Amino acid sequence: MAAESWLLEAEGLSKRFGGLQAVQDVRLQVAEGTITGLIGPNGAGKSTLFALLSNFLKADAGKVRFRGRAIEKLQPYQLAQLGLVRTFQVARSLSRLTVLENMLLGGQQQRGEKFWQVWLHPQAIRRQEQELRDRAFSLLSDVGLAAKAQDYAGSLSGGQRKLLEMARALMAQPQLVLLDEPAAGVNPALIEKICDHIQTWNQQGISFLIIEHNMDVIMSLCDRVWVLAEGKNLVDGPPAQIQQDEQVLAAYLGL
Ligand code: ADP
Ligand code: MG
Repeated sequence: MAAESWLLEAEGLSKRFGGLQAVQDVRLQVAEGTITGLIGPNGAGKSTLFALLSNFLKADAGKVRFRGRAIEKLQPYQLAQLGLVRTFQVARSLSRLTVLENMLLGGQQQRGEKFWQVWLHPQAIRRQEQELRDRAFSLLSDVGLAAKAQDYAGSLSGGQRKLLEMARALMAQPQLVLLDEPAAGVNPALIEKICDHIQTWNQQGISFLIIEHNMDVIMSLCDRVWVLAEGKNLVDGPPAQIQQDEQVLAAYLGL
């Protein structure tokens, strides 16, 4: 595949924390329209790689291109405007805002409206607000949280917070969503629903890069899987191949 056709492409990424080389010379590619998996044992550097890809951390070395564009100098909110958003392993919803307010905040990034627009175009703004609310409710019902729209985010369970965070990321109408362990702490019935929705969102044109320990989720969703171990690329390929790879098994078993 030609270099220009990758939606996200990283090369030579490295990050050190003191004496620990958390990510070392890592390469990763996400093709447009796909669901790509990122797996590896605890401490392999997956979350750190997400932080490097989304500019929440500055890399010591390496390059990241999103839609063919070097993104090193962009702030996370600018990346969101370009169409790249992420969620966190430990959900970061604002606990003293309601579920709906959290969602509306997620949708605000892309509007970038000025105060005078509110004054000049009040009806257009009201229409936009209504659209944002409609989108918020539609996404909240996707993840089973519509009935909790007026509850404080702080009253949600850990699993529900993860769902809220995923729905909030989608409010920005992204092209690529990085999901850090979306199924962790979520009950099995809901995990299946989340997978269905990720697939539906994917069919609507949204690409995903997913860190997940639940192998059923990875196997059922992903077009391609990348494996990290001890901060480095181990292997990558189709999920069925990765599942049978002896190097991967050995890495998980600590051999
Ligand atoms: P994973 O998500 O694959 O479990 P992480 O990227 O969270 O792995 O962590 C990789 C390694 O880097 C671990 O050894 C972790 O303890 C360390 N680490 C992660 N973030 C920091 C940080 N902010 N400061 C110091 N060490 C960190
Ligand atoms: Mg992690």
